[in-house]
Amino acid sequence: MPEDAAGRSVDPLGLDEAQMRQFGHSVVDRVVDHWLALRDEPVIAMRSVEELTAVLGGPIPRQPSDIDAALELLATTALTNMQRPGHPRFFARVPSPASFAAVLGEWLSTGFNSICTSWLGGSGPTTVETTVVDWLRELMGMPTDTEGILVSGGSMGNVTAIAAARHAGYDGLIYLSDQTHSSIRRGLSVMGWPDDQIRLVPTGADFRWSADAVAAAVAADKASGHRPAIVIASAGTTNTGAVDPLEALADLCAANEIWLHVDGAYGALAALTEPGRVALAGLGRADSLTLDPHKWLFQPYQVGCVLVRGHGLLEACFTMTPEYLRDVEAHGGETEFRNMSLELTRRARSIKIWLTVRAYGLDRIEAAVLRGIELAEVAGRMIEADSFWQLVTPAQLGVVTFVGAGLSDADHTARANALAASGYAVVSTTELGGRTVLRLCTINPLTTEADLAGTLQRLRAG
Ligand SMILES: *Cc1c(COP(=O)(O)O)cnc(C)c1O
Repeated sequence: MPEDAAGRSVDPLGLDEAQMRQFGHSVVDRVVDHWLALRDEPVIAMRSVEELTAVLGGPIPRQPSDIDAALELLATTALTNMQRPGHPRFFARVPSPASFAAVLGEWLSTGFNSICTSWLGGSGPTTVETTVVDWLRELMGMPTDTEGILVSGGSMGNVTAIAAARHAGYDGLIYLSDQTHSSIRRGLSVMGWPDDQIRLVPTGADFRWSADAVAAAVAADKASGHRPAIVIASAGTTNTGAVDPLEALADLCAANEIWLHVDGAYGALAALTEPGRVALAGLGRADSLTLDPHKWLFQPYQVGCVLVRGHGLLEACFTMTPEYLRDVEAHGGETEFRNMSLELTRRARSIKIWLTVRAYGLDRIEAAVLRGIELAEVAGRMIEADSFWQLVTPAQLGVVTFVGAGLSDADHTARANALAASGYAVVSTTELGGRTVLRLCTINPLTTEADLAGTLQRLRAG
């Protein structure tokens, strides 16, 4: 039987100390081996449901079995048949180049089964989360009367912010663009936001809003007796990295008592860098802002953050104190994260961010973000230098889009698919202005110029 020094079992299901250490070390070794081999592995791998189920499925095991064999199966079958979001040639959608210190933070907090729900139940993790949220607030240039919380990702961040704004009285028309992330529409739909209260204001030729177009829509809606309530701006669209005119939108919203929510899930963390701050001017004037540390702060999945101006708005929207939490309430601290989003039981997502910043220091993180911005510019120059390619949108916050001479929509998709199937690199296609384009997202600082050149050359060869 598993035992501590006093002869008591420590694992409720019965591993002993030697097994805990042996399998724990084996997990660390497997993970480090994976990191060492990553560059030479296929960027994405997929097998059929039959093949995978044959290995991973089957009847419920009744009896214990060899843990090492089970770990091996997971490492070689489950966790290899996926995209490698940290591979230097993963350019699709949004990569996630997680840092190792962040993984260590995640493991440590999971090993302690961290909880960040109430002050009584988690004053330590709560302090780490308020610290991390305040760091992020400062980096985003938001004022000190801002509160925030870590959530699963950008989708939850956006819904949390919009719910808080509506609860604070911003109920009426909400303005989106054709480039607004799809999670916002889904969020509005589940919130029961009426379709006729959603205004779509198209972007211009550069796939960003003109502030004049939004102002004109707001003025027309007011003239016809509607209540413009919330504007959703993008700080780096997923498609092109374009940033809406945040300063002008902040002026417009301030003048019309409109809530400005900025979706910076993709791009906001570029504000760690000088060119990012220029591109994102006005970011700090948002009434609420979503950002995604699992995209551009070198964190493994999942962690997003939502920041909201005005202390108490999240609590006003999300507080609940059922009878069985009254003693928790009585010991309430300044921050009760259980009352600031839809989650009650919450793990301490902050630990990995705190450790990352502590371990590497902000300067190194900033340099890594800057490298991601520059790599898209390098790719943009390679594309411009080759007459086969034509830029559709220039490098913006780590994203560049382009098309090939004489290629149809289907050709672009076929070339992206063939490249992924080759295992060498993965790029996305997306649709811009009614046509299919190729898209690179280059936020992994491990990417080399040879990786970019090799990817473009293979796409060109078809
Ligand atoms: C990724 C993304 C989201 C959604 O974030 P998740 O973390 O995937 O939930 C929302 N908005 C933008 C602009 C994004 O790039």
